[in-house]
Amino acid sequence: VPFEIHRTVDEIRSRVVEWRNEGLSVSLVPTMGGLHAGHLALIKHAEMIADRVVVTLFVNPTQFNNREDLTTYPGNEVDDMKQLVTTGVAALYAPSPEVMYPKGFSTAVHVDASAGILCDRHRPGHFDGVTTVCAKLFNQIPAQTACFGEKDYQQLFVIRRMVEDLNLSILIEPVPTIREEDGLALSSRNARLSKEQREAAPILHQVMIDTVASIHDGLPISKALEQGASTIERTGCFELEYFELRRQRDLDLAHSLDEPCRLFVAASLGTVRLIDNVAV
Ligand code: AMP
Repeated sequence: VPFEIHRTVDEIRSRVVEWRNEGLSVSLVPTMGGLHAGHLALIKHAEMIADRVVVTLFVNPTQFNNREDLTTYPGNEVDDMKQLVTTGVAALYAPSPEVMYPKGFSTAVHVDASAGILCDRHRPGHFDGVTTVCAKLFNQIPAQTACFGEKDYQQLFVIRRMVEDLNLSILIEPVPTIREEDGLALSSRNARLSKEQREAAPILHQVMIDTVASIHDGLPISKALEQGASTIERTGCFELEYFELRRQRDLDLAHSLDEPCRLFVAASLGTVRLIDNVAV
């Protein structure tokens, strides 16, 4: 299948409608570029479940609550395309900000579930930006499925909630987190880590693994979390935002392992904000 690039809503929509009319299934992989093996895992998953895969590349300005993070966001389109041609992706949709947010744009999607917790507490407005842009992409591209990484678990959670609440006709497919050999979760922002920061970064995952082990060994949850958080803080490298055990189902704080839970962490190394989560 030849690799196509589309820049406008009409182009991508009519192409996908054509495929659907031919009886082909379509899966969507939304990204902000700076492609890495995590994105490639989503693409692989999409290729497994659909006849045609559409990757979107759009650095969505409305989900950045920090200007510097937006202006320094890693990635360039040519490098991303070089990676995409090695996959079976059928089309890249890379709209401009003007296509996505023409003059006069004034609508937003707000999901209340998980408001005020985890990343929402530290990045006000971020998830409104995410849900709004995803709602737009789902409407522009009539795919049956869209793949999202568990790495951004709260994002996956709010998008699923939105799809259910607004009866969007798309199925959300979660894909497990891809990590470096030392445990660091792949992220486009990792490119901004200095050598020293890159060496410190895997501590986060290590502490998560140790904390999960302590909990399974019977250490009280509150003690295990305290221990983990203080280990991260004692390194002196990180600005810790949260280190919390929450129920997978509704992201409420978990005080027991009666149902599936996940351990969530967010911490900054200098100006680079890292997030991660693991199942417990
Ligand atoms: P981004 O380009 O960072 O907005 O991410 C686009 C998609 O890739 C999102 O669904 C992310 O959850 C997913 N993703 C990012 N990093 C990883 C990773 N290390 N493993 C799996 N999926 C990821």
